[in-house]
Amino acid sequence: MSRASETSIFTEMTELAHRTGAVNLGQGVPELDSPPVLLAEVAQAVLDGRNQYPPAIGVPALREAVAAHQRARYGLEYAPGDEVLVTTGATEALASACLGLTGPGDEIVTFDPCYDAYPAGARLSGARLVPVPLAIDGDGFVLDSDALRAAVNGRTRLLVLNSPHNPTGKVFTPDELERIAEICREHDVTVVTDEVYEHLVYDGARHVPIATLPGMRERTLTVSSAGKTFNVTGWKVGWVTGPAHLVAVVGSVKQWLTYTSGAPYQEALARALGAVEGWAAGLRRTLTAHRDLLAAGLEEAGLSPYRADAGYFLQADIRPWGFTDGLRFCRELPLRAGVVAIPTSAFQQGVDTTPWLVRFSFCRRERSLADAVDRFAALTASRPEGA
Ligand SMILES: *Cc1c(COP(=O)(O)O)cnc(C)c1O
Repeated sequence: MSRASETSIFTEMTELAHRTGAVNLGQGVPELDSPPVLLAEVAQAVLDGRNQYPPAIGVPALREAVAAHQRARYGLEYAPGDEVLVTTGATEALASACLGLTGPGDEIVTFDPCYDAYPAGARLSGARLVPVPLAIDGDGFVLDSDALRAAVNGRTRLLVLNSPHNPTGKVFTPDELERIAEICREHDVTVVTDEVYEHLVYDGARHVPIATLPGMRERTLTVSSAGKTFNVTGWKVGWVTGPAHLVAVVGSVKQWLTYTSGAPYQEALARALGAVEGWAAGLRRTLTAHRDLLAAGLEEAGLSPYRADAGYFLQADIRPWGFTDGLRFCRELPLRAGVVAIPTSAFQQGVDTTPWLVRFSFCRRERSLADAVDRFAALTASRPEGA
């Protein structure tokens, strides 16, 4: 069966949720509010007639806002004229980078488990994806630099980094980033870094863009997007920053994929991005509370989750329930507990050494999460002592 005709696990689990009335904590589609001003401004931009093709590289105001954001937040300087490109979501930036920078015979290294757009990008370009497993250490996921070193060779053209990381909620530490950077500098590897969760970092964790490390700006394309930051995943507006020669490669592919991206959204997002800090602080408070609510419920149910310092997801170990296969667990969970999750194996490209991991999303409404927690509690209460 071709990849395209496989029923994805997301479709299967969403259908299962509908059929059984289970709470869907599978897919990572946020159920949270967006900034009201942003919504009003998009509506106004449409009514004002900003409905024709904007410039291929993006509306000037948004490119300037992205450059200002990178400078103010990270001290990274990019020229809005040729070092910032607006794309149709982060997805298009990632696919265009793979298509423009790699081809058959090349290798793309990424960390496993990974977001499914990376293997898709490799398939589109004909390059080989080389997954490097993240290691588990205590309650979190860590870089295995020996494994990374062993994976990089003369054929490695790209390293696709994702920090903050989906599906684990890991934030790569400055020390880990330095070890990755060292290997990339040594082997002259270009880095594409997917930072769509850059604002959704909790507790004391801090997001550091790899482009800020010595010798990395010149070899790094940094990708981000409005979807996760403003709870507008349906708008599909993303952007990429980097040195002009790399941004130009992405732009030359983007030109023939979509040419340009949603004009009214870009206008409104330019203003929202300028005021993102206040908005993001509130969103982080909400998501931290949601994460803690779900984590406590899972803990209570005996499915102790790993630490999630960022993003939308918790990883849980299902072995205490006597399961070793996440897919089987996820097919049974709606019937047993009335909750839907996604097996982490769906994000695993290499040998799966952790088939017992399952991903739960906490970007849902508080009511959905409380409902899921209640269902777990009811299940625990009905189980005989010691079972
Ligand atoms: C959601 C997500 C994306 C997709 O971003 P779009 O802007 O919707 O294309 C990319 N990368 C990761 C890690 C994501 O979780």
